[in-house]
Amino acid sequence: MAIFSPRRSADEAEREFREQNPGVGDTRLIRFKSGRRTQMIRRNVIGIGNAYGFIEALQSTALHMVITNIYAAVLHLQHLKRGRNLADKVNQSVGEIWARLRWFIAMQFRLNRRVQIPFWRACNDGVNVA
Ligand SMILES: Cc1cc2nc3c(=O)[nH]c(=O)nc-3n(C[C@H](O)[C@H](O)[C@H](O)COP(=O)(O)OP(=O)(O)OC[C@H]3O[C@@H](n4cnc5c(N)ncnc54)[C@H](O)[C@@H]3O)c2cc1C
Repeated sequence: MAIFSPRRSADEAEREFREQNPGVGDTRLIRFKSGRRTQMIRRNVIGIGNAYGFIEALQSTALHMVITNIYAAVLHLQHLKRGRNLADKVNQSVGEIWARLRWFIAMQFRLNRRVQIPFWRACNDGVNVA
């Protein structure tokens, strides 16, 4: 996998990828915007997986978040059945889990010193881990 970022063109990323993987066939550029919805539950809609948010695929945090969201959605529906709407609390607690995952991923971009190319140097210096 080669990384295409605002500091690097798709052509540059593909060139590097092909240098490292000679003989590779067709490639596909996948664009994504990192972030999350402010609320997982809004009225009668629940966002699961990419419908709620996406940081990036590192460390299986995306799949972890899918499981967490499903678990939170089931709890919410069980409470609703008993007449209690805990949507605000669920949204807050899922948002806190997301913030911790974001920090966990950001630390890896911040602290990785093994690959010293311009992309990673920019990550080392510029990633916000607050
Ligand atoms: C190359 C790659 C590697 C990854 N590796 C990892 C990893 O190692 N660990 C990890 O945690 N995450 C990984 N991810 C991310 C993870 O795969 C996604 O975050 C996760 O699949 C999101 O699940 P989802 O159900 O929200 O969306 P999706 O899995 O994309 O499911 C959406 C489904 O909806 C269908 N669909 C779309 N539009 C319509 C429509 N109009 N009508 C009907 N159906 C529709 C699609 O066909 C698809 O089946 C990776 C992603 C990629 C691209």
